[in-house]
Amino acid sequence: MLIFKTVNELSRYLQTLKRAGRRIGFVPTMGALHAGHLSLVKTALGENDFCIVSIFVNPAQFNDPADLNRYPRTFERDLELLLSEGCHALFFPEVEEIYPAHLDIRVDVSFGFLFQTMEALHRPGHFEGVVKAVKRLLDIVEPHNLYMGQKDYQQFLIVQRMIEALHLPVRLVLCPTVREPDGLALSSRNQLLSPQEREAARQISRTLFQAAEKLKQGLPLDSIRAESVNDLKKEPLLQPEYFEIANAVTLRPLQEAETTGGIIICTAVKAGTVRLIDNVMIA
Ligand code: AMP
Repeated sequence: MLIFKTVNELSRYLQTLKRAGRRIGFVPTMGALHAGHLSLVKTALGENDFCIVSIFVNPAQFNDPADLNRYPRTFERDLELLLSEGCHALFFPEVEEIYPAHLDIRVDVSFGFLFQTMEALHRPGHFEGVVKAVKRLLDIVEPHNLYMGQKDYQQFLIVQRMIEALHLPVRLVLCPTVREPDGLALSSRNQLLSPQEREAARQISRTLFQAAEKLKQGLPLDSIRAESVNDLKKEPLLQPEYFEIANAVTLRPLQEAETTGGIIICTAVKAGTVRLIDNVMIA
């Protein structure tokens, strides 16, 4: 596996590949890799000639410095996992490579309601940081295909909107959420959970799946929301921040009589001091 630390080296190498007609699949990550990330890598390997993963813990998207400081960093293990998947290249830049002082990275896109709900409200500045990093990484890698997980569904919609608005020549692929056997969505932050918090965190996906069932049965939206928040609060170690049943395209709260292409149920829950997000989509 090739490892690139600088933009120049990487660009030069990728240009040669592109001139030779190779298709490039790109998986941006913040490292501390797990089977969720690797499922994206597998899909990218299956659909492209060349798969490149980036590991960049993006300071711009952390609204809480303590969260940035304790974000897990497991580089040696990440390398082993990528090697065993057969990933072709890793981009592992320093912050200065992504945000050089002379470069003013602006993403002049209006995200509308996507920037006014759920994660955007609870993590001010977070998505501004995400779009800045993703735009810069796309400018550097210029992949044919970009792979992102449903686990971060709002992030996916925002990146989709950016790609459309800026006419970026990349195809965005949404990959399903990979879960632990008890339903907990895999997340790098799961390693920060105490055994008791880990046990309590099972309730997050359970509540989401139960809400999806109730929705299919036609129960009123307000009572589903209220019961779900109550179910989460029954676990003393869990503190729900939001629980939203929304239109899967606009993220606007679902209305009772709404007939729509898709519904997404999203939640953010603190387990102790660890903030976890998850969602379930209903077609
Ligand atoms: P992160 O390293 O958390 O920034 O995630 C990098 C990419 O992996 C994002 O597109 C995430 O949505 C995706 N991802 C994270 N966890 C999972 C999961 N459990 N299943 C599928 N994709 C995931």
